[in-house]
Amino acid sequence: MTDYYLGVDLGGTNIKIGCFDAEIKLLGKTSVPTGAEMGPEAVVERILSGAKELLNEVNVPLADVAGVGIGTPGPANYAEGIVIKSTNMPKFKNTPLRDMIGKNGLGKPAILENDANTACWGEFAVGAGKDVADMIFFTLGTGIGGGVVCNGDLVRGAGGNAAELGHVIVYPNGRKCNCGQRGCVEAYASANSTAARAVDAIKAGGKSTLEAVLDKKGELTSKDVYEHSDAGDPLAREITEGTAEALALICVSMLHTTEPSTIVFSGGMIAAGDSLLSRVQHHFQQQVWTLKPEPIEICFATLGEDTGIIGAGALAKHAREQGKLA
Ligand SMILES: [Zn+2]
Repeated sequence: MTDYYLGVDLGGTNIKIGCFDAEIKLLGKTSVPTGAEMGPEAVVERILSGAKELLNEVNVPLADVAGVGIGTPGPANYAEGIVIKSTNMPKFKNTPLRDMIGKNGLGKPAILENDANTACWGEFAVGAGKDVADMIFFTLGTGIGGGVVCNGDLVRGAGGNAAELGHVIVYPNGRKCNCGQRGCVEAYASANSTAARAVDAIKAGGKSTLEAVLDKKGELTSKDVYEHSDAGDPLAREITEGTAEALALICVSMLHTTEPSTIVFSGGMIAAGDSLLSRVQHHFQQQVWTLKPEPIEICFATLGEDTGIIGAGALAKHAREQGKLA
């Protein structure tokens, strides 16, 4: 019998499911609408039928599936596999999702994990961090998610909520963050905050080629800001430098916390390419303690849109090896 794994990435809009062999090679994948408004039982039913159809397609008998990894937005009690609540799925309240999908659904052991952690684990297991033991991971999207791998394992913390890196404070008494704190890195360097800082700068009287875009669309995106920055607009350039500097500051702090070999950035904003990466690297070198003992690589994620399912599948394998599937 060969061991296979299923990886489930449960998002507010779509559920993605992947089937993997023992080396976490993706054999096939599927995506179905979440239908969160119908409630947890109906969502789980979609996951179960989607998984069974996928196994049929890739010719893997359910009996050969060794474990299921499930990535979900928090907050959750990950040790018990329970989703406490969910902004995108309001009917999920204290939902025992791990067991509904795992032992009571497919009849397989499973693990439930924060979706930023599963994405992190995917990059660590088979992506940009596959050759290292210590890695820091950021997703740059509407917010900033994070993951920390230390000595070859995820750092989960006392209540399973460690590595909320977006809410590490980089500027005391700085911009208000959605979490209620001030000066979080998310309030400066997420895609939304990068765009919001540009809008604020223009409304405060700053001159920029972005003004015309803002007048036309009534809003800006981080893509607009990076395009105008690349074209040489000084205000846009100041904003993107601010994004890079905030990210560099948290990289320096994380270096001195867990000494990663690799720091990986993922998410929609990495489409900005070198305009983002080389500037983070530049500010990092400006800020970091010059006597650091080991070189550190700051790079982009490599797995693309399948990171979530790959990470969930890889985490199921890892948890099984540790005897931690339930
Ligand atoms: Zn915050």
